[in-house]
Amino acid sequence: MAEQRIPFVRVELDESDISAVEGVLRSGWLTTASQVKALEDELAAYTGAPFVNAVNSATAAMHLALAAWDLGPGDEVVTTPYTFTATANVIIHCGAEPVLVDVLEHDANIDPELIERAITPRTRAILPVHIAGSPCDMDAIMDIGRRHSLKVLEDAAHAIGTLYRGRPVGSISDAAAFSFYANKTMTTGEGGALATSDEELSARVRRLTLHGMSRDAWNRYDAGGSWRYDIQEFGFKDNLTDIAAALGRTQLARLESFIDERTRVAQRYFANLRDEEHLILPTFSEEHRLPWHLFMVRVRNESSPAQRDDVIRQLAERGIGTSVHFIPLHYHTAYRNLGRWQVGDFPIAERIFDGEVSLPMYPGLSDTEVDDVCAALREILHP
Ligand SMILES: *Cc1c(COP(=O)(O)O)cnc(C)c1O
Repeated sequence: MAEQRIPFVRVELDESDISAVEGVLRSGWLTTASQVKALEDELAAYTGAPFVNAVNSATAAMHLALAAWDLGPGDEVVTTPYTFTATANVIIHCGAEPVLVDVLEHDANIDPELIERAITPRTRAILPVHIAGSPCDMDAIMDIGRRHSLKVLEDAAHAIGTLYRGRPVGSISDAAAFSFYANKTMTTGEGGALATSDEELSARVRRLTLHGMSRDAWNRYDAGGSWRYDIQEFGFKDNLTDIAAALGRTQLARLESFIDERTRVAQRYFANLRDEEHLILPTFSEEHRLPWHLFMVRVRNESSPAQRDDVIRQLAERGIGTSVHFIPLHYHTAYRNLGRWQVGDFPIAERIFDGEVSLPMYPGLSDTEVDDVCAALREILHP
């Protein structure tokens, strides 16, 4: 394979990130303490959520929320097959059942009408995923949630910075889980956060994050702290380190400029590819502000001389990295082994997957690089 001239992602790090991490290393206190607290406060201000729990991944944030709501055997959670496996894994880890419903053609987000139809007396929660940071129809989903007394937990792994009808994701539903994984819009290496307006949920999640302990290790080792603690329930070990949180703070401080840059890249792709007959471009509504976490295009396999897999291979041969978001959950072995779904069950998710290619998208991807990607695409699509 050719050397990667234009990789799929480049992590956006600068001197402020590096010196923030260095500062924590020099402080001698590496795990959960003042940096985590400060990141939580800053995320609360950014998202408008009164309570934020910083944890070690979005996966943990979702798992902790479901665990804090006491989801377990016999409970159902309605979610989408068009996502990363973490979304459904956490439901299964609680002993509950994921109920999958198909997505909408235009944005690959869960279809609210199908959610409504999937509700049974066992349904406890709805878990929508904002694909690429493009928001789900939250007004419809919140309305369904209210009418059926269900919790709504957003997989907002792609959606830090998304404004839904002017409101930041994190301030809309019962809880939203953000990811700060290395290739997400802002990163802490590994990390995530749960944003909520429910103080009780936040407090329970805090306890479950650290073994079910009555108080943070932070308080425990404080000058005035005592050695005494109590295990109040059987929790997990999902806390974020101060090393990661310091990086999160400098990243969050630049998030708006990251989003501006991503918007520039998206506009350049649109200008270049607007008339490309063999591609379907992402759709968006001016009602929302998108963070452009991904730039997802779809190859029209039926009419295009090059199919999706050829396009990916030929871009790679030209040194251009891509990815595919997502392989529908029911295609994976572990899901097939559950015997609950078959190929054909989610025709829209399947059709979107068949053509999907995620193009390079990050701050600092130059206009020339975007033009190169588009020129390569045109060559491949018009042999
Ligand atoms: C990345 C991702 C996750 C998992 O995030 P982590 O922070 O790595 O746990 C969950 N859902 C979606 C849709 C993702 O893309």
